Amino acid sequence: LPSAEPAYLQGLNEPQRQAVLTTEGPVLVLAGAGTGKTAALTARLAHLVATRRAWPSEILAVTFTNKAAREMKERIGRLLGDMVEGMPWLGTFHAIAAKMLRRHAELVGLESNFTILDTDDQLRLLKQLIIAAGIDEKRWTARQLAGIIDRWKNRGLPPADIDAGESETFADGRGQELYRAYQDRLRAVNACDFGDLLLHTLTILKTHRDVLALYQQRFKYVLVDEYQDTNSSQYLWLRLIAQERKNICCVGDDDQSIYSWRGAEVANILRFEKDFPGAAVIRLEQNYRSTPHILAAASGLIANNGGRLGKTLWTDVAEGEKIRIVGVWDGPEEARRIGDEIEAIQRRGGRLEDVAILVRAQFQTRELEDRFIAIGLPYRIVGGFRFYERAEIRDALAYLRVIAQPADDLAFERIVNVPKRGLGDKAVAKLHMLARAQGIPLTLAAARILDTDELTGAARRSLGNLVGDIARWRDRLSALPHAELARQMLDESGYTAMLQADRSAESAGRLENLAELARAMEEYETLPAFLEHVSLVMDNDADRESSKVTIMTIHAAKGLEFDTVFLAGWEEGVFPSQRALDEGGTASLEEERRLAYVAITRARRQCIIFHAANRRIYGQWTSSIPSRFVGELPPANIESETTMSGGESLWRAQWSEQGDPFGDIARGTGRGPGWQRAAVAGNMRSQPGRVVESRASAVSFAAKPRSDVSIGARVF
Ligand code: ATP
Ligand code: MG
Repeated sequence: LPSAEPAYLQGLNEPQRQAVLTTEGPVLVLAGAGTGKTAALTARLAHLVATRRAWPSEILAVTFTNKAAREMKERIGRLLGDMVEGMPWLGTFHAIAAKMLRRHAELVGLESNFTILDTDDQLRLLKQLIIAAGIDEKRWTARQLAGIIDRWKNRGLPPADIDAGESETFADGRGQELYRAYQDRLRAVNACDFGDLLLHTLTILKTHRDVLALYQQRFKYVLVDEYQDTNSSQYLWLRLIAQERKNICCVGDDDQSIYSWRGAEVANILRFEKDFPGAAVIRLEQNYRSTPHILAAASGLIANNGGRLGKTLWTDVAEGEKIRIVGVWDGPEEARRIGDEIEAIQRRGGRLEDVAILVRAQFQTRELEDRFIAIGLPYRIVGGFRFYERAEIRDALAYLRVIAQPADDLAFERIVNVPKRGLGDKAVAKLHMLARAQGIPLTLAAARILDTDELTGAARRSLGNLVGDIARWRDRLSALPHAELARQMLDESGYTAMLQADRSAESAGRLENLAELARAMEEYETLPAFLEHVSLVMDNDADRESSKVTIMTIHAAKGLEFDTVFLAGWEEGVFPSQRALDEGGTASLEEERRLAYVAITRARRQCIIFHAANRRIYGQWTSSIPSRFVGELPPANIESETTMSGGESLWRAQWSEQGDPFGDIARGTGRGPGWQRAAVAGNMRSQPGRVVESRASAVSFAAKPRSDVSIGARVF
């Protein structure tokens, strides 16, 4: 007889059940990828509601993304049907904190309709303050200060708590004073930034016992997914709320901590057991997601990291393919091969929505997108914009359009004050008036308005410069290759400099995207032909096909799973990223390795890793070395192939020339000898990639025995 067991418990294994049924007291679920942590957390939520331990509104459930929150709501809805009238407190930290802050805004000097500033506003404000303080804002930029303040906020530190021994310094110790001024100013304009959402609620909870008591009473249960990526201020916030009832359940995986650049601290996992003594620690060891080869490969890779909590993972899935490592000639060939493979999957009856291509950096999607468009393969970009829709790409395209099509008013409007050159709304309004009165395009109106006295001072000067620049760029169009013109234009307009001055985490990616744009242009004979291509690509957006492959960054793929996962660009300098290599320390490299672990463990059945021998980055051909992570995969779980004749010997020669590239790094001691990407002759592009059938082992360095690995995978 089927048991009367509720649906949400059916099929759960023993430790998962414990995670669901241990409702009272602190619970920490610490387990590897694909072991059903999120599944258990969702079942726990369902259980709490179904057994009437709490109303949905009495449960605080934190997910890492809005998408994850939606999915959890849907799953609960399916499990419990009508019982769930929405879950008001299920969401990301920021969403939940914003909701709380609106209720108690007055306690931190805000009104409940406060605005949340975007980065532009934030920087403008900081710059004003830096100047007002008589500090050289060229030397001490608003960007830097924004970064420092953000990190303070991530650590849960209001201005008063910054002590003298603080390691973050700005303008000879004036950071704290500026931080204070910034917070005052925000309050004066009834605004807060992203970091404030948490910091302010934290302040309120700390200083108003009644409010704290209110939430401690309300939230009978607290649930947290992706716990390894919480930062200090999030942790302190959770601890306060859960301190009274102590019914807090956190699930996480130290090996998947990939947001330390945003202040996440794995140490919070260790802190949990201290702050909540007697916490039940539950380990899930059975992986339900992936085949044994995928699991063993991921476990073997992550074993190269030091300081892990360590865990065992096994699966009872019997068969499965090895991970395929495919060496190709260059990026376009990589895109071609991935497209071919996906079409083969379709022919075998596979569905596109079960396929994902994961990249390390946004700029990598362009070649893939162009190829997929060419062969009519539907795709979607998740957690970011499609290449040609990104802000910096649209800006650059607008510049190009102004040159190619003088009547393109929309393009002109987009760039007239980007980068900022003092041509505000007023100046633009005057341009519009003149253009309308004379029936001419804005660019022409811009030239003519200079003959009048409509504009004065700085606005007049900078419009004069812009008009001059545009005329000059148009002249060059006939003389220069258009990709080269694009590069010059981005430099001369100040656009590149604007991004270079920007020290945010995204700016490097934006510069890469622009270099990638120029590279894409080279494939077209003329600028109009290129722009035509782009408008067709953009139009492609209109089709609403439901079945699509997904392209996304590894960061955005956290918590998700797909039958087939393609991992593109596993080369030194792409993955691990050049930034991580430049930093040189073990910490950034280990974070890249955790990213690689996350990437591989997204795959259910098939994982295919690509690396190209030649890659164009920043418009420069470079010969690339396969990622060290390829070398760290256990040989027994991989199968290597290359499409190049002589490919293997080519790489071998490169390595032997430069010594054992992985000797130092594998032991975590830092960078190897000068083995990093070497620029090669620019004529590589003219050499066609020769496709042959040979299946050579391109990763001979993988065979190194590793005695330092203590936590192996137990795979059956
Ligand atoms: P990640 O670390 O990547 O976030 P996770 O530990 O949260 O992974 P889930 O996403 O919850 O893992 O589960 C992975 C897969 O295993 C899902 O497809 C889920 O439906 C399935 N699964 C989880 N638990 C079980 C179970 N007891 N029996 C069968 N399948 C399960
Ligand atoms: Mg999960």
